[in-house]
Amino acid sequence: MDMIDPFGRTISYLRVSVTDRCDFRCTYCMAEDMTFLPKKDLLSLEELDRLCTVFIEKGVKKLRLTGGEPLVRKNIMHLVRQLSRHLDSGALEELTLTTNGSQLSRFAAELADCGVKRINVSLDTLDAEKFHQITRWGNLRKVMEGIDAAQKAGLKIKLNAVALRDFNDAEIPELMRWAHGRGMDLTLIETMPMGEIEADRTDQYLPLSILRASLERQFTLADIPYKTGGPARYAHVAETGGRLGFITPMTHNFCESCNRVRLTCTGTLYMCLGQEDAADLRAPLRASEGNELLDAAIDEAIGRKPKGHDFIIDRRTSRPSVSRHMSVTGG
Ligand code: SAM
Repeated sequence: MDMIDPFGRTISYLRVSVTDRCDFRCTYCMAEDMTFLPKKDLLSLEELDRLCTVFIEKGVKKLRLTGGEPLVRKNIMHLVRQLSRHLDSGALEELTLTTNGSQLSRFAAELADCGVKRINVSLDTLDAEKFHQITRWGNLRKVMEGIDAAQKAGLKIKLNAVALRDFNDAEIPELMRWAHGRGMDLTLIETMPMGEIEADRTDQYLPLSILRASLERQFTLADIPYKTGGPARYAHVAETGGRLGFITPMTHNFCESCNRVRLTCTGTLYMCLGQEDAADLRAPLRASEGNELLDAAIDEAIGRKPKGHDFIIDRRTSRPSVSRHMSVTGG
């Protein structure tokens, strides 16, 4: 039985945050002194596998591991290897992950061996100094080595960059030329008001409508119907021959085509990135060895998936729209 929500949307995409921890502290994502979950609260890799398997049985075709930083979870490749059996059986069409790239040089070859074909790498700048400034703890050279290793292993990469006013807006043409020159798509993302951070989101927020207009003074962008199962809308860039994606939760709401739900590392299911409502799947998971309770809890949760988010960033709204940080659900 497919999972269909009250608005007739079929849920075929599960994003799983395997850890809330990260080896970076991006200023728009986290506070510097984040408190992370005690390790004992995390679902085991076996429990995560069981949960994912139930979702796949219920119609999930695309599964993305995220975090925190998914590649810092201990033994993460064990989970990837386990999940790859669903690729082999044909039940799952795509197993992928979103990463900051810092650990990719260690894991790229094994990811490819497990049937991962494409990954998203988050990279907001090519300037080592600015990279350190925005990630607080990151080292650009390690990310570059990771990207090299991933391409060498045959993984297709999409770069994701959060557009930040007066930080990387002037650098986007260079980032795009670099990405396209290496055969990678680049997707720009609007910053979303999630969780308390030290910085002022109003200062950081850059509507992509403005950035696109400025890019169009230098480049010829033609909208194309290309889709990767996510909310990005793509344009072909004549001068580089590459694809540029736009994810615009703030300026252009795309909830009508939402096909996804998000599971955290504690077994909490968020039916919308931009709402607080969630369902606990850990209790039904642990209550019995069979999956009937879990199955019923998932159906109940999908039955209250909201129509969409109501993110707001403006000077009158000082509190974030949702209190949790992006690192809880992993984007
Ligand atoms: N650590 C992995 C990574 O860096 O891709 C996965 C988790 S990270 C939370 C996923 C994505 O969310 C990254 O591309 C990051 O830049 C983005 N992100 C984090 N906070 C955000 C926010 N408030 N608004 C928009 N994107 C955000």
